[in-house]
Amino acid sequence: MIYAGGSVPPRGYFVSCMCTPLQYAAPPTVFIMKKTIFIDPKRCKACRLCIRACPHHCLELSQNRNAAGYLMIELVKPDDCTGCGTCVRTCPEPQCLQLIRNA
Ligand code: SF4
Ligand code: SF4
Repeated sequence: MIYAGGSVPPRGYFVSCMCTPLQYAAPPTVFIMKKTIFIDPKRCKACRLCIRACPHHCLELSQNRNAAGYLMIELVKPDDCTGCGTCVRTCPEPQCLQLIRNA
């Protein structure tokens, strides 16, 4: 039964709402530009802080050395890199690691 009058309906009655129902449209498409990292081998000192910091274990020390003789860091699991930037914030060498747009 529908309650039609008064301010407070008695217990057990349904209240008819005359509001316009919300129109639920399809949610807007959101494009998320995934990021990854760029490693500048010239600036790396092989301290390995980034390797320990990466929550997805994407970084490893390679067997190749840069011009200064340091072993170079390598992004070994690029598909697992979320672009979180943790390694970038951890690296003590300025501009050695940078977040870039994933191609
Ligand atoms: S950006 Fe995040 S996920 Fe990618 S290598 Fe750095 S710490 Fe790992
Ligand atoms: S934190 Fe920076 S300097 Fe240290 S190993 Fe990683 S990229 Fe190289």
